[in-house]
Amino acid sequence: MSQPPDKPTARVFFALWPTEAESGALAAWQMPLKQLCGGRAVLGKTLHLTLAFLGGIEQIRLESLIRAAQEVRTEDFELCFDGAHFWGRNHIVYAAPDHVPPQLVRLTGALEQSLDTHGFKFDQHEFKPHITLLRNARGTNAELNVMQPVHWQVMDFALAESVPQGGVMGYRVLARFPLKTGGFG
Ligand code: ATP
Ligand code: MG
Repeated sequence: MSQPPDKPTARVFFALWPTEAESGALAAWQMPLKQLCGGRAVLGKTLHLTLAFLGGIEQIRLESLIRAAQEVRTEDFELCFDGAHFWGRNHIVYAAPDHVPPQLVRLTGALEQSLDTHGFKFDQHEFKPHITLLRNARGTNAELNVMQPVHWQVMDFALAESVPQGGVMGYRVLARFPLKTGGFG
């Protein structure tokens, strides 16, 4: 018996997607980190912070996924990346905040809740906010906090699709979802 044709899918995730200036400020960390840790710098314009990873979903469900995200209306906030860290298991170097703002915890909580309500499955590992800066890094014992802290003004979050581009993973932002203004401070 012949199999029905596969339905088209998209590999999707929600993320904080910075402005050019914000990603540029973090990209400036990559060269000094590479000198310390080796590895390969992630392309500056693709830097992002993953909030929830869904993986492959049928494309016809994208509209419903967007509606689920539209229901999330937590407050905007400032996010400060204080330093870089080496993650031996994954051989990555990543930027992370020293203090996770409560608004970020509320945002991921509300997003996960809404995804759940709308029947979407996502990776349930403990949320550890980070931005991958270098891959295939070898690590070092040297101090990695040699850069100036970088501040992001988080006004929205994004739905992104992973799309292979010439052998490496590229991303396409499919939709953006504004946060409520006035949450700073
Ligand atoms: P590649 O897998 O080719 O190295 P990538 O990891 O950048 O590329 P994806 O695997 O599509 O691309 O992942 C998209 C984003 O989701 C990345 O930020 C990635 O770190 C994150 N991610 C991937 N898999 C998971 C997962 N199981 N749980 C949480 N986050 C994930
Ligand atoms: Mg991956």
